[in-house]
Amino acid sequence: MRLSGLAIRHFRNLGSQELELPSEGVALIGDNAQGKSNFLEAIYYLETLRSFRGARDQELISFEEGVFRVAGTMQPTDASVRSEVVAAAFERRGKRKKVTVDGAEPVRMGDALGHLAAVVFSPADIDLVSGGPSERRRFIDIVLSLNQPGYMSALQGYRKVLVRRNASLKTGQPGAVVQAWDKGLVTAGAVVMGARRDWVQGRGGAFGDYYRRVSNGEGARMAYRPNVSLEGATSGEDICAAFQEALSASSERERRMGTTVVGPHRDDILLRLEDADDELDLRTYGSGGQRRTAALALRLVEAQTIRDTRSQRPLILLDDVFAELDEGRSERVLELMEAEETGQVVLTAPKEADVRLRRDSLPRWRIESGKIST
Ligand code: ATP
Ligand code: MG
Repeated sequence: MRLSGLAIRHFRNLGSQELELPSEGVALIGDNAQGKSNFLEAIYYLETLRSFRGARDQELISFEEGVFRVAGTMQPTDASVRSEVVAAAFERRGKRKKVTVDGAEPVRMGDALGHLAAVVFSPADIDLVSGGPSERRRFIDIVLSLNQPGYMSALQGYRKVLVRRNASLKTGQPGAVVQAWDKGLVTAGAVVMGARRDWVQGRGGAFGDYYRRVSNGEGARMAYRPNVSLEGATSGEDICAAFQEALSASSERERRMGTTVVGPHRDDILLRLEDADDELDLRTYGSGGQRRTAALALRLVEAQTIRDTRSQRPLILLDDVFAELDEGRSERVLELMEAEETGQVVLTAPKEADVRLRRDSLPRWRIESGKIST
């Protein structure tokens, strides 16, 4: 699958444009604040139906306008499959989002996710490593929601029950009222924890590999740090039992705090440097470059997950990512991407000189005040 066409209307500063994307991708070059990241944001919106920069939908609408719309045509590489058009629009006044796949509104919003199969690499990715646990939870939640059937509904179910359970704790309801939520919380939470654990364990080797290759020999590890100890828990039932036990053991504390104090909403993923005699947390001890490398490795693992679970080469969106890596690291990232038989690449850079990927073949586009010239 590749993105062959893109129609944008009133998205940020991009105005109204219809573009045909070259099959290998494109390098978008322009000065600061011209709309390069906005362009990638518009494309990636079609994958997750939200901003990869964490912006609210209203903020994506061009200042003077009331509605934005983005539509992408996905062309299968296999000629026997027909192309698909995914379109998303958001209206300021009604705060209404409308999504269609080939003109039809999917039954659930979730069915419209993940059609593009794309991964964004952005300078803000360093927060995945430097930021708090919630950054890493959001990362794994997006990866699993897009790639693992059932994950998103378990996560949504968990959150819903958690809100209600917390409300009854906060208002000091009797124990029986609080406990009435336990079964739902535990069942959904166990699915979430099981999937997170399997993903981190299954992809840990790849993470270490990518890190080693980009850093030229240095090791790093990723490990799941569930808030509820899962030691010895193998089956889903075991995980449920472990969670229920942790809940029961913390009933006094949660009563005091007025909130649910154990569960996957407090999970983390540890990212550590493999040192000779110790393992150092990258968040605390990593240099800027080491953290950046770990963030890149996470995105590469995300791309690998898409390749494996959706049998598609993901569209790679690179938002000026080489700016802060040293020469050697940038070169090795590029080699890696080539070796992984990346599909289409859309990259942005302020200067022509920064466009190192496929330097000969990738077509160049320019952007000025949101207007793209091809
Ligand atoms: P840099 O190289 O600095 O990262 P960039 O080319 O990636 O720059 P963008 O972040 O894509 O820049 O675009 C920033 C511009 O978009 C700003 O000038 C901002 O005012 C404008 N902008 C942001 N949101 C909107 C909006 N809703 N409507 C109109 N313009 C917007
Ligand atoms: Mg930018």
